[in-house]
Amino acid sequence: MEENRLISILIPAYNEGENIVLIYERLKQVLIPYNYEMIFVDDGSNDDTERILEDLSSKDNRFKYLQFSRNFGKESAISAGLDLANGCAVLTIDADLQHPVELIPEFIKRWELGFDVVVGVRMTNKGEGFVKKFGSFMFYKIMNIIGETKITPRATDFRLLDRKVVLAFRQFTEHDRMARGLIDWLGFKRDYVYFNANARSNGKAAYNNIKLFRLAFNSMISHSLFPLKLAGYLGVLITIGSGGFGFYLMICKYLLRNEFGRSFSGSAQLAILTIFLVGLVLVSLGLIALYIANIKSEVANRPTYVIRKKNFK
Ligand code: UDP
Ligand code: MG
Repeated sequence: MEENRLISILIPAYNEGENIVLIYERLKQVLIPYNYEMIFVDDGSNDDTERILEDLSSKDNRFKYLQFSRNFGKESAISAGLDLANGCAVLTIDADLQHPVELIPEFIKRWELGFDVVVGVRMTNKGEGFVKKFGSFMFYKIMNIIGETKITPRATDFRLLDRKVVLAFRQFTEHDRMARGLIDWLGFKRDYVYFNANARSNGKAAYNNIKLFRLAFNSMISHSLFPLKLAGYLGVLITIGSGGFGFYLMICKYLLRNEFGRSFSGSAQLAILTIFLVGLVLVSLGLIALYIANIKSEVANRPTYVIRKKNFK
């Protein structure tokens, strides 16, 4: 085992005022045997996070923080931390104590055994609603069917990355990012640590279902071309389907002259067909619009985050 390699602990925090002191104390306990730095990323909080960060950093020189100019989201907070971390390994952990701090030595052990990526996989999650559970289940199912990279189900942002992986991650230029997907895409030698997530210690989850749905949807768009092709598949299916149905109607109406055929007027047939096809065209347009929106935000090439303040270089 190589002695005393620096380990950066990266903690994204959005309105976690009450939790920061708690997690800081817990981390300090667990990290006694290691050479470490803690980097808190204040993702534009509007509570007393700033004061608490300043306070802790004035007492402890291993305590670093940076503050965004506004809320950019957890993915950006993690990106910023990975850009600035100096460690030979970077471990990301939620500020709300849902990720068990006691498992950190386990992550480090696997890293020392030679794994480049050690991912925390959640077995259960206390205090999670059905919608969120089902949504997350469906997300991984669908992503792994249509996505171009496989994503480990229930993998979390409780994760350790070797410096090699961090340097590779810094090369990504896309803005609509989901660190999990990108890190899975990178490959490297990986291992898993299983844990039971605790209930959030204070406050409530900032990621509500709508926000999570949007994240899931965006990452589908940026990791899969299937929705784009879907319009084409649907078109073929519906053309064949409606063609067949129309043909069957014609036979009933003019050849067999049965009850079903007589009851179905020509304009009714046309109306149904037209509505159906208009719907189809709209769906296709919608999908194309999504891709164009995605291209637009990438081309605009805005920074992923903007730093307002930081206490280290
Ligand atoms: N977080 C963040 N920016 C945000 C939302 C959340 O940095 O816009 C942080 C938050 O402070 C916490 C972690 O990301 O440390 C996980 O957030 P949360 O508990 O809200 O999500 P969940 O537990 O549902 O994944
Ligand atoms: Mg949480």
